[in-house]
Amino acid sequence: MTAETRQFQAETKQLLDLMVHSIYTNREIFLRELISNASDAIDKLRFDALTNPDLIEGDSEFEIFLIPDEQTKTLTISDNGIGMTYDEVVENIGTIAKSGTKAFLAKMQENTAATDSELIGQFGVGFYSAFMVAQKVTLITRAPGQPKGVRWESTGDGTYTIEEYDKETRGTMLILTLHDEYGSPERQNENFLNRYTLQNLVKKYSDYIRYPIKMNFTHEEKPRDAEGNLIEDAAPVQTTEVRTLNSMTPLWTKNKNQITQEEYNTLYKDLFHDWEDPLEVIHSKVEGAVEYTTVLFIPAHAPFDFYQRETTSGIRLYSRNVFVMENYKDLLPEYLRFVRGLVDSPDFSLNISRELLQHSTQLTKVGKNLEKSVLKTLENLLSKDRAKYQEFWKEYGKAIKSGVYSDFASRDKLKDLLLFPSSASEELTTLAEYIARMPEGQTVIYYAAGKDRAAVERLPQMELLREKGIEVLYLLDRVDEFAIDALADYQEKKFQSVSRGELNLDDVDTKTAKEETETLTKENQSLLEAVKETLAGKIADVKISTRLKSSPVCLVAGDQGISLSMEQILAEMDRTTFKAQRILELNPAHEVFAVLKQLHETTPGSTAFKDYCELLYGQALLMEGLAPEDPIGFAQKVAGLMAKKNA
Ligand code: ADP
Ligand code: MG
Repeated sequence: MTAETRQFQAETKQLLDLMVHSIYTNREIFLRELISNASDAIDKLRFDALTNPDLIEGDSEFEIFLIPDEQTKTLTISDNGIGMTYDEVVENIGTIAKSGTKAFLAKMQENTAATDSELIGQFGVGFYSAFMVAQKVTLITRAPGQPKGVRWESTGDGTYTIEEYDKETRGTMLILTLHDEYGSPERQNENFLNRYTLQNLVKKYSDYIRYPIKMNFTHEEKPRDAEGNLIEDAAPVQTTEVRTLNSMTPLWTKNKNQITQEEYNTLYKDLFHDWEDPLEVIHSKVEGAVEYTTVLFIPAHAPFDFYQRETTSGIRLYSRNVFVMENYKDLLPEYLRFVRGLVDSPDFSLNISRELLQHSTQLTKVGKNLEKSVLKTLENLLSKDRAKYQEFWKEYGKAIKSGVYSDFASRDKLKDLLLFPSSASEELTTLAEYIARMPEGQTVIYYAAGKDRAAVERLPQMELLREKGIEVLYLLDRVDEFAIDALADYQEKKFQSVSRGELNLDDVDTKTAKEETETLTKENQSLLEAVKETLAGKIADVKISTRLKSSPVCLVAGDQGISLSMEQILAEMDRTTFKAQRILELNPAHEVFAVLKQLHETTPGSTAFKDYCELLYGQALLMEGLAPEDPIGFAQKVAGLMAKKNA
């Protein structure tokens, strides 16, 4: 079979162009990426070999070799991992751009900063980073059990060749023919043919790789005599020794006090291909009925698609330092799905399947413990380092709030961790802090929902509370109202929406206002009924308002059922069967009320009266951020009024 020439898929080609032409700094990370692929390949082989020992082919000394060659200007990275079949090479390296590729390209286009090379690992496009330093990449690989290997080669120009190839040993060899500048002694730190440069890079990025990363060191020395003294007049001889460049000892087996923050950070970045230090590290060792060591990390930033795709990263499992499984998703509850890390326990058996794990009581216990320690850490952070907690909240607050409404069992554990913006200040507040600020006599926690701070502050319903100096929580995230609804109360104080039911104010002013309202309601009974009748089918009731100041109307939801903003969110999710109970409130102190009243008295049931009702309802909808049900009709009525006014 002769070599076939194929085209890269369009996005892959674009990616390659970027690698070759746009990234100028930190190109050294290609080594980390390729070593990480080699290590992943050995992991996969070991895992598969648990059920199929033949795959080992008598070669069970897992290792990664770096072979710099001055003569050919090549750096070879070889492993005895799982290798790839012909089809796998085409699929993994050749044509199909993975989901990450597109996202990576988009991200690259939005930041032009050179540090973008750091994004490579994060998006799972590590292989192509080879083209940052190599003018030609040759991959020779054989999967266990395959009689023939595969040779793939590309200069990164849009095409590659692929052919069958004899390879005796199992695994992958990646031969990078370096660009001249990356193999030249003038660029010490970027001379990837220099053994000491390579050694430093391995220490820096790949020290905890679980397999030995080896390299031959050759030196010339004069031979020694029987006493070990150099024989001065003999010709020097070359000796070669194989050195392992990485320490391999898993960090988590050491004692906490022997580990530096830097080391935790490196472990995190190495294991989870992030380029930023984690926000928080939790390392604990537990002995007793269940025995395990865990290192958990809260990444500084949520993955780019964290909220779109409800991504769960999962936890890596080890058994006595040996890798068992990555991305195990069922250990922590859904709302902590941003936590990364590992658990090493002698109780995990090596060849356990994901299905069996789900039923392991040991693992359930471990999971409960981990949840507890993450929550404990967050509580400490909140009380001891508010600024850092706010950083955490900015990234993951939504996940925690989702937990409040979707995870009944965790609700109580999460309520103290919630932060909300409020009318009191620009700062976020906890519920406990809100309660502590409540004046005597306030019996409920007020909140208002809307799309942003400005929108909420302009709500007509806010006016009265603002005037009375009552603090209102702002629910600006779509999950917020659902979470608050699920909580129902906090420290025995009920939550009360400013746009729902009665306001529950019981100061003296309010009491008089209430009495006045009752009188007004009685006096205007016929008007209210006429409005209600006109808007039948659209609203459930019409009331005289106690909460309005300068606005003629507002729309509130009944005490029962969902709110107007929840209705909007549900509608966006195509759940249009959920409707809020709409109550139109009229401001009796407003001029418009007087006009409406007059219309009703002089020409009851007239078109003019009906138009006014429709217009008021339309306005109320608009103020809630909702479109009037018949926007064209609404606009025409407004236009009609405007024309009349100037006639
Ligand atoms: P990722 O490692 O995030 O999957 P990469 O671009 O680094 O993305 O690698 C792409 C794929 O190529 C890998 O998922 C793997 O299937 C394959 N691959 C890369 N290097 C090796 C290797 N040394 N041995 C076996 N397969 C490899
Ligand atoms: Mg990779």
